[in-house]
Amino acid sequence: MGLPPQLSAEERSAALEKAKQSRQVRSLVKNRVKTGELSLSDVFKLAQDDPIVGKMRVADLLAALSGVGKIRASAIMERLSIAPTRRIQGLGKHQISALTAEFVPGNKRGKLVVLSGPGGVGKSTIAAYVRKHQSFWVSVSSTTRKPRTNEKNGVDYFFLTDKEFDEEISRNHFLEWAHFAGARYGTPREPVEKVLSTGANVLLEIEIEGAKQVKAHAPEAILVFLEPPSWEELVSRLEKRATDSEQRRAERLALAQEELAAASFFDHRLVNDQVENVVKKLLSLASAR
Ligand code: 5GP
Repeated sequence: MGLPPQLSAEERSAALEKAKQSRQVRSLVKNRVKTGELSLSDVFKLAQDDPIVGKMRVADLLAALSGVGKIRASAIMERLSIAPTRRIQGLGKHQISALTAEFVPGNKRGKLVVLSGPGGVGKSTIAAYVRKHQSFWVSVSSTTRKPRTNEKNGVDYFFLTDKEFDEEISRNHFLEWAHFAGARYGTPREPVEKVLSTGANVLLEIEIEGAKQVKAHAPEAILVFLEPPSWEELVSRLEKRATDSEQRRAERLALAQEELAAASFFDHRLVNDQVENVVKKLLSLASAR
């Protein structure tokens, strides 16, 4: 095997000079984006002819837009399934039009849809489907209950200790929180706010007390009560829960009975007959108002 290729001193200094120039060009573009002199579509056009602009990271470009910043930029990219390291030249046609549409002046705030209902009715199955198909951005709650097998921290829940949960409450970090079957559950406020401000719709899958709190703070939220096809169906679902202890199951049944009575508080009631049906109805409720 030969030696790795070596650069001569001249080649090395030429390369360094080129890299410096590229950085300068990109920082100039970012500054002009910051002041509003260049729009997102202007930069996309520039990138077609100028490979230096084409190599700019999408995350840096979005973060430079006035009022966007790094966190919102990454939330937008995640929602549009754009890899965090993607460069402008690597964007697809659809991604470019989705990004351009995102920053049309007067873009509206997203809708906050709250899916609630008795434990065991199948809310989490609906939420998992919605998450997978990206029909809404689904909030990840914090909880003090222990993870079940296969549950991942940061994906299914943020699993917190009691002390950590207390701290989140004292910092006013929850949009709502409630006790449920011996544990506490809460919706982290900031990510929800961020996503709504990008114009995307958000789904919260939470129990009834929390849903009531959301309505009190955000009357524009759309509250949906998910009902079982029948009470017998709900009982049989709860009884099949292998992850619960005997005592926990009995508690959940008693609570479910109380919870069913809360349906009248909600803006809409949907029967959980089929996952796809429920999701379609949720989408149409979000687009109707
Ligand atoms: P599980 O422990 O079975 O995952 O959830 C128990 C209950 O807590 C479910 O009814 C679920 O909807 C609810 N829940 C999950 N996250 C939250 C949350 O952030 N806030 C409230 N209030 N309830 C939640």
